[in-house]
Amino acid sequence: MRTSTLATIRYGGMKSLLTSAHVVTMDDAEAEHPDGWILIEDGFVLEAGGGVEPEAEERVSLGGAVVTPGLVNTHHHLYQTLTRARAQQATLFEWLVELYPTWARIDDEAEYAAARTGLAELMLSGCTTVFDHHYVFPRGRSGLVEAEVRAAQELGCRLVASRGSMDLGASDGGLPPDELVEEIDAVLADTERLAGQLHETGPGARIQIAVAPCSPFSVTGRLMTESAELARRLGLQLHTHLAETVEEEAYCQELYGCTPVEYLDSLGWLDGDVWCAHCVHLSDAEIGRFAATGTGVAHCPTSNLRLGAGVAPVQAMTKAGVRVGLGVDGSASNERSHLFNEVKQALLVARGRGGPQAMTARQAFRLGTRGGAEVLGRDDIGAIAPGMCADLAVWATDGLELGGAVDPVAGLVFAGAHRVDRLYVGGELVVHGGALVRADEGDIARAHRVQASRFAQ
Ligand SMILES: [Zn+2]
Repeated sequence: MRTSTLATIRYGGMKSLLTSAHVVTMDDAEAEHPDGWILIEDGFVLEAGGGVEPEAEERVSLGGAVVTPGLVNTHHHLYQTLTRARAQQATLFEWLVELYPTWARIDDEAEYAAARTGLAELMLSGCTTVFDHHYVFPRGRSGLVEAEVRAAQELGCRLVASRGSMDLGASDGGLPPDELVEEIDAVLADTERLAGQLHETGPGARIQIAVAPCSPFSVTGRLMTESAELARRLGLQLHTHLAETVEEEAYCQELYGCTPVEYLDSLGWLDGDVWCAHCVHLSDAEIGRFAATGTGVAHCPTSNLRLGAGVAPVQAMTKAGVRVGLGVDGSASNERSHLFNEVKQALLVARGRGGPQAMTARQAFRLGTRGGAEVLGRDDIGAIAPGMCADLAVWATDGLELGGAVDPVAGLVFAGAHRVDRLYVGGELVVHGGALVRADEGDIARAHRVQASRFAQ
């Protein structure tokens, strides 16, 4: 047996034990072990508990840190790190119309730099699994999804990438400019190609592909329907934006004579393999419909506040049994890819809406971990329990912001943890001492600045 402070977590049957930790499992019993340990083998959790420690070939002391499941981000647009702080006082539609022409310049080189930046930010905020909703595919550009997959593989996080789409251009009554919309057949063929090349299944999948047409105001009903058919034939998850703003509701009423949720329902979209971003403007009946069909929600509180869109009724959703996870949303409407900040934000907006009883610190934490895993249709991440991926976020408790906190878990949420101390993905250490293990943060930022300068005007 060897003891160290730097877990090497080897594969091939070696058992490693993380000790001296306050373990927050997020398991079915919501167990916490203040004097806890986690036993890991081959990238998965063998056992977690407190008190008497099991035998292991390697022991790693975490010095009293809080250990939680790695956070799961359920909605992002990584490419938007290139275009932050634009359209500063715009509504969603004004913001989109201003940014579309700039986004039309995206290519694989810029996408790669953007993804490395967004993924690094997310990992340093405790996130181990990222969903990225990419839907901007200018004609003639290739390799965009491949670029973000490469970035995730290099940095060491899990990625669910989407082959998104838009086919309803301005000349047909849609919001995006015609240069950014695609032909339906091309979208579906490329989605199937990417799924065939990149989508992994089973416990521990590192890279997955989701089918994600952009929104009711940028995609035709036919592409929505055919996307759902393709996803179900290939066994992929389905995602779109929904009910984000009052303008979207008015648009759907005018064009389709119904609410955005009713429209999606009419297309056969509400089901257990679907999750939708935002869902700010849902009636009680629509929340009931989400619960009855098993449709999930990516709650993005900071982005919703930044664009003045409103606050999603998350308390009513979770009470009704709707699957809810958290998302940072794109970096042009949040500006930061800090998922732990969304845990704090979710708690604050819930309390702003429903009073101090509306959400506990642990309920907020659950949204960011277990809730996110459920939304992505994953039963191998989001909790620390036997058979789950060893995706772990280690939060130091001896820094400035937790001094005097009698409950370190609530302290983390109320304070909003600044930076994770360690991050394990599949048992491998990818952040150590608050720094990326496989890349240099300064190098990522420098390369990003070069690419972002191409989008400055
Ligand atoms: Zn979004």
